Amino acid sequence: MSPAALLAPPVRRRRPRRPERLLTQNSELREEGVWNWTLPALAARLPDGRNVLTCPSAGVCALACYARNGTYTWPGVRDRHHANLAYVLDDLAGWTRQMAAELAHPRHAGGWVRIHDSGDFLSARYLAAWLRIMHFRPAVRFYCYTKEVSLFRRYVQPAPPRNFRWVFSYGGKEDHLLDPAVDRVADVYPDEAAILADGWNSQDASDLLAVLGPAPVGIPANNIPRFRRRQAGRTFRQWQAEEDARRARRRAPA
Ligand code: SF4
Repeated sequence: MSPAALLAPPVRRRRPRRPERLLTQNSELREEGVWNWTLPALAARLPDGRNVLTCPSAGVCALACYARNGTYTWPGVRDRHHANLAYVLDDLAGWTRQMAAELAHPRHAGGWVRIHDSGDFLSARYLAAWLRIMHFRPAVRFYCYTKEVSLFRRYVQPAPPRNFRWVFSYGGKEDHLLDPAVDRVADVYPDEAAILADGWNSQDASDLLAVLGPAPVGIPANNIPRFRRRQAGRTFRQWQAEEDARRARRRAPA
């Protein structure tokens, strides 16, 4: 280390404040009595400089991600999501205890928690923490959308908690591992009419239909013009398949 560096004041890493309450309710889920836990969508740069991938298997979905738009980008909301992520990364045991304690409140008995309004299971350790929480809180029901197919194959599907439901959502790097004949799957369609035309089942009336209603599940795309233009009338599944084929052609020897 140079003498100048020795004399320089130590760099202070800013730590986001830990949230007092971990679960929140957005306006849509509040109507259904669902609580949710959120991480930043896709990736985040924390105030201390760390870059963290929060949706490791995201694919084309990242190009039309509802959670990288609108209120999700407001500074207060973004800071809260960063604080959630930093807590999970820096003190997963403490976060697990706090989440389990919060879920012991009578308001959650018999209710639903959506894991990840945005974000996904960023590591096996983090997924294992959620599985422990589900085990500790059998009176609470949990659900999620996820693109982490291989993580679920390995750590969830062999012995799934009874109070956990999930749906694999298309538009990720692991779409090719999905089999709609076996897996519960969801795809984002340009609109409601396209869902019905394909014979899929819309979850538009209630987010819980994604895990409780008939499958396969269709999700109408959000009305965000620049995302609609990118999606170009395709479903995320079709879009990802096109992207996978394009990459395969680029990798193939000439
Ligand atoms: S996995 Fe979900 S939250 Fe993450 S980038 Fe894709 S759509 Fe957004």
